[in-house]
Amino acid sequence: MVQGALFTKAFGDPSVSRFAKVAVELPVEGTFDYRIPDILKNSVKPGTRVQVSFSGRRANGICLGVSKTASVHDPYDLLDVLDEKPLVSENLLVLIRWIAGYYCCPIGEVFSAALPKSARTFAKQRVTWGARLKIQASDALKLAEELIEKRPKQARVIRLLAGSDELMPLAELCSRANVSRSPVNTLSGNNVLELCPLERPGIFSQEKAASFPKPDRLTDEQSRALETIMSCMEKHERSDFLLYGVTGSGKTEIYLQAIEEMITRGKGAIVLVPEISLTPQTISRFKGRFERVAVLHSRLSDKERYAQWKSIQNGEADVVVGARSAVFAPMPRLGLIVVDEEHETSFKQQNTPCYHARTVALKRGEIEEAFTILGTATPSLEACLDAQKKTLKPLVLRHRAGKMCFPIVYVINMNHEKSYKGKFLSRALKTKISETLGNKNQTILFLNRRGYYTVIICTACSEPVKCPSCDISLTLHMKANRLICHYCGHESMPPDSCPSCKSGKMIKIGAGTERVEHEISALFPQARVQRMDSDTMLGRNAHEKALKSFKSRETDILIGTQMIAKGLDFPHVTLVGVICADTPLYQPDFRSCERAFQLLSQVSGRAGRGADGGSVLVQTYNPDHYSIRHAIKNDYYSFAREELSMREKAGYPPFTRMIRAVFSGKESMAVEKMAMGAGEALAGIKLSDTTKLLGPAAAPITMIKKRYRWHLLAKTSHEKDLDSITSALKEFFRKTKRALGKDSRMALDVDPLSML
Ligand code: ADP
Ligand code: ZN
Ligand code: ZN
Repeated sequence: MVQGALFTKAFGDPSVSRFAKVAVELPVEGTFDYRIPDILKNSVKPGTRVQVSFSGRRANGICLGVSKTASVHDPYDLLDVLDEKPLVSENLLVLIRWIAGYYCCPIGEVFSAALPKSARTFAKQRVTWGARLKIQASDALKLAEELIEKRPKQARVIRLLAGSDELMPLAELCSRANVSRSPVNTLSGNNVLELCPLERPGIFSQEKAASFPKPDRLTDEQSRALETIMSCMEKHERSDFLLYGVTGSGKTEIYLQAIEEMITRGKGAIVLVPEISLTPQTISRFKGRFERVAVLHSRLSDKERYAQWKSIQNGEADVVVGARSAVFAPMPRLGLIVVDEEHETSFKQQNTPCYHARTVALKRGEIEEAFTILGTATPSLEACLDAQKKTLKPLVLRHRAGKMCFPIVYVINMNHEKSYKGKFLSRALKTKISETLGNKNQTILFLNRRGYYTVIICTACSEPVKCPSCDISLTLHMKANRLICHYCGHESMPPDSCPSCKSGKMIKIGAGTERVEHEISALFPQARVQRMDSDTMLGRNAHEKALKSFKSRETDILIGTQMIAKGLDFPHVTLVGVICADTPLYQPDFRSCERAFQLLSQVSGRAGRGADGGSVLVQTYNPDHYSIRHAIKNDYYSFAREELSMREKAGYPPFTRMIRAVFSGKESMAVEKMAMGAGEALAGIKLSDTTKLLGPAAAPITMIKKRYRWHLLAKTSHEKDLDSITSALKEFFRKTKRALGKDSRMALDVDPLSML
């Protein structure tokens, strides 16, 4: 490099931008301009975290961009720059801004959700940095000569580093050169030196996963699906795929081979799975095939997560496997995003920003020109419609891979069991369990409710015992002898007499997993029974241990909640019993039929994975309901056809877009008034005839954690109306916030999944 050029580089371009656009990490709308003081001008880049003063206090933020002009006259100075290198790439910045717009939420809150915690809070970030030269030592010494007059501090730093190729700890460098960090930052900004974290916990766990070999040959359907993907990759024809494959059809193998192809092209992949599927079994499939796999799960400490993030950013991983927020993983050269179990509701975040990882993945794919594959055995109706419209390319696997066959499904009409005592276990299911035990095979019993009795009701006034903080019946947990609220965790002793009328006797009804476990152990004393739900699976490895013992056939009967419904693959399970297929049907939600169908299909998929075949027994009070009829025949297409036509007639998603506003606060009257006010505000704006406003009304769960709740829904097929509605709501809230009192909140949920 010529010396003159180096010199100019070291001083930077005099016409550099003087203002930074900053998103502060506070729940405030919009972005803010700050003046960049000269001393920081080389370190401020789009994607670096900065410190600013905001409403009289220090706040962290992210620099979104720099410019020569500011939108306000005489803005404040930027206080500090917190990163050596941008924390987020320009592409991620674009994505985050898009999310803030699409989901109508403050951009700072999107950053909070997207970035690992310790990376956001500088004080907590205990990373030790080291510095080393990026240019030849001889060039460096010449540059030091040039700088010694005008920039003696930079010259000293260069000289100190010229002696070695190793990283020198930053603290040592600064103290030996007797400088602050500023000249080091400048030199780093000019590419004379680089800063790297010194000691980082390794991102790849030490233990080596068992290898997960490629099958000898792909099934015909797998080959066809892969060929479609590969030919698009070959032609650089960026595409989004919907891989609809029945349970056990070998979707994972398709992901693995698509990822392999990407890696050979020098690109990386992100694989998103639902949090409960992020099991050692799932992870080992990826680690067993690839060398450099990073895992982002919720059990990581802030520090570990931050370390993972940095390593991924440095290009140390080819594959990132993680739950929802891994969609933001800073994979450089992203080539592929896989969303496994695309239909899962846990991909949607419940609090602001209420983003859906599927939606974000598709957008990120578009921005980064990466491929996306959405995989599932029960496509969401959103994905199904997109595949019909060909915005998603459909890939279909209708048959199971290997020697597996489909289980035989029996429906048990529970209406016929009424006269028979012990209601929740039908005679047929008991017989079948005993048969399975006799054949030395394994059984899975599924019930989506925890606890022993699910409701305690008064015989005199019929009032159930409810949580004092939530409008929810309390569940009796026998072992703990406690009534527990499954929303807020409130616990109390079971009352002897009715808390409402003070006179009635209490009866206990309903069955949760604890009761099923109790009953099964009593019926089959010789069987080894294990319950798996969030009450029994405490501690870091409980989940792993339970599955291990089931896999090695030390457990005969596994009883559990949805924790066991997904992704498990056990060849000796020949019986799956669904204790109550109706639970999702009773939810006040237009998606309740879809949920019932999905759950039943997923649970049934657990049986018949081995050569022994298997059967599924479904207990239901609604054997003729179309969700149940189609699910037991494993007939997704018929279900989707029926459900889509109902949605279209009623004007529900995926044919329209929805937005939900939830109003909450500590005072019942104030919340109602706020909701009513919002309703009036919306009545005043001009909307198209087909746009429908529902409510305001009390939310189905009228109180959670002592906060009263009202809501309002809008559905529309006009994007323009969606914008008008959200701006009117925000405007209303901004205007009335003061009068409403401090604890009043309005939360906007775009494309809501929960209506409760
Ligand atoms: P899905 O995710 O579609 O439910 P999996 O990916 O879990 O299905 O695959 C089910 C089982 O089939 C796994 O044990 C897997 O190893 C096996 N498998 C996948 N592809 C093949 C193949 N081509 N030949 C034989 N076995 C296969
Ligand atoms: Zn009573
Ligand atoms: Zn509660």
